[in-house]
Amino acid sequence: MKGFLEDANYSIGLLDEGATLADVIDNCIYEHTHTGKKAFYVGDLGKLVRNNVQWQNVMAPIKPFYPVKCNSTPGVLEILGTLGVGFACSSKAEMALVQDLGISPENIIYTNPCKQASQIKYAAKAGINIMTCDNDIELKKISRNHPNAKLLLHIATEDITAGEEMNMKFGTTLKNCRHLMECAKELGVQIVGVKFHVSGSCKDLQTYIHALSDARCVFDMAEEFGFKMNMLDIGGGFTGSELQLEEVNHVIRPLLDVYFPKESGINVIAEPGCYYVSSAFTLAVNVIAKKTVEYDKFLPSGGKVEQTRNDDEPVFTYYINDGVYGSFASKLSEKLNTIPEVHKKYKEDEPLFASSLWGPSCDELDQIVENCLLPELSVGDWLIFDNMGSGTLGEQSTFNDYQRPLIYYMMSFSDWDEMQDAGIASDTLMKNFFFVPSCIQLSPEERFSTAA
Ligand SMILES: *Cc1c(COP(=O)(O)O)cnc(C)c1O
Repeated sequence: MKGFLEDANYSIGLLDEGATLADVIDNCIYEHTHTGKKAFYVGDLGKLVRNNVQWQNVMAPIKPFYPVKCNSTPGVLEILGTLGVGFACSSKAEMALVQDLGISPENIIYTNPCKQASQIKYAAKAGINIMTCDNDIELKKISRNHPNAKLLLHIATEDITAGEEMNMKFGTTLKNCRHLMECAKELGVQIVGVKFHVSGSCKDLQTYIHALSDARCVFDMAEEFGFKMNMLDIGGGFTGSELQLEEVNHVIRPLLDVYFPKESGINVIAEPGCYYVSSAFTLAVNVIAKKTVEYDKFLPSGGKVEQTRNDDEPVFTYYINDGVYGSFASKLSEKLNTIPEVHKKYKEDEPLFASSLWGPSCDELDQIVENCLLPELSVGDWLIFDNMGSGTLGEQSTFNDYQRPLIYYMMSFSDWDEMQDAGIASDTLMKNFFFVPSCIQLSPEERFSTAA
């Protein structure tokens, strides 16, 4: 791989045998307690390596193309590039980012359903040819700006559980595929395959069965038109649980063998996003303010305290130094799938109180957790959120004085070995590793990076 981000200010702590993620978090909290108590992430890049091993074990030969928008921090992109994962980009900025990594254009697909003409031109120039398309206006735009484009027709799935998610909004019908093929023939645009996406919240695996047979119909239709079809993209929506991956595989494998057998030369690819990164990042936030519900206010004269409190009303309201205008942006559109852990030690029999958690903006949308049970916290205490790896990490925030949390990357020695077995890491990546003996501390002043 080509030298990547020569001046990138990031480093990866290589953990000595015996040191754990929890030690790294403890240590960072210890340091931050003396340096302003800013929120920070710890990213275990070894998790990406392990998730990739699991993908290869269960899903091979389906090739993963990681959607850059899920987490575009340099450590993540560079490790995935080293592991030989491809990239699904939704913008020029994302394409440029992975190109800078030295990723070759065959390993990049352009998947935005609503592409800007100038960005299609950019893809054409960069030799990024594979892109998705679900309507004729998009098709015409592509034909004008990218004569060598190779299209994947994005078909809709019947994922009713996903509500208004992208499968409802994006993707076309089988009937319209015929129309798109007629247009493509007329315009001389190549169609090379089909893409669909089943969201991670869809529990009904039948959706895959329908989507795969629909995809086969589109392949047959394409044959009539004389298109040479060679790619099937089964999208993302893998949660990261091995069980879910195996369940999906169990359902799709027999159908792939029948409809898209190896001998047919059709490459099956997928776009696992959350799968790779969600569980790899842990966010630590600090309690910056606290409010207590005043019981007296609700007390009718002579009433009993217990009866007057509204049960839905949390007893404590805590404000923390990251919120929906930062790391919890996904909370605006979906449920948070993580429960905070209290970092300080507390006794098992300590009383728990109904508590709500809010971001620092004082905005009414900035609620992170509506109601959870926590021991009583003080201003300055830390809360830990797991599974925070997919979302806004890597994006530039447009909100006024929001500062991205620092990111500490780490990896264990055994994951490091595994990574070296899997791919050839560039010299620049290798230079980013530094050794962390189990008893020695990571020093944030020297070893931090902010998200790119
Ligand atoms: C966001 C996105 C995905 C990722 O979905 P996950 O549920 O995170 O796997 C896949 N494909 C495209 C084009 C996306 O934009």
